[in-house]
Amino acid sequence: MIIPLLKGLGLTLRTFFTRPVTIQYPEEKMVMYPRFRGLHELTRDKEGKIICVACELCAAVCPANCIRVEPAEGPTHQRFPKVYEIDLLRCIFCGFCQEACPYEAIILRENYETANYTRKDLLYDRDKLFHAYQK
Ligand code: SF4
Ligand code: SF4
Repeated sequence: MIIPLLKGLGLTLRTFFTRPVTIQYPEEKMVMYPRFRGLHELTRDKEGKIICVACELCAAVCPANCIRVEPAEGPTHQRFPKVYEIDLLRCIFCGFCQEACPYEAIILRENYETANYTRKDLLYDRDKLFHAYQK
């Protein structure tokens, strides 16, 4: 009878002096693993221009069918996405879009704070994805 009680108290004491596994979110943030797949970013080149050429491969491969791309042509006949949207309510963060992109134009990064108040705010358009990680 007394032995299980002592065992339990011993465990409590041991745990009392170990480092807690919990953090004080949102003051403290989790450091995510390098392969973590969070919110997407539409990347830019060195001049700050959008890299995406609106080939729609990411939309074709997306199993959740949550990417919408509408291509357009610029003055020097370069293609760019007039519309690029990701519906985060449907996205399963599988990373297929990143893998399919031939230009590394869409990358899933470490941001996991995507909670919002309305469904509309979770439809990320081109500008939101473009500036998602701008400091
Ligand atoms: S992470 Fe997966 S589900 Fe989400 S947009 Fe990319 S391909 Fe679609
Ligand atoms: S993000 Fe990549 S795969 Fe998707 S449309 Fe743009 S260039 Fe193509």
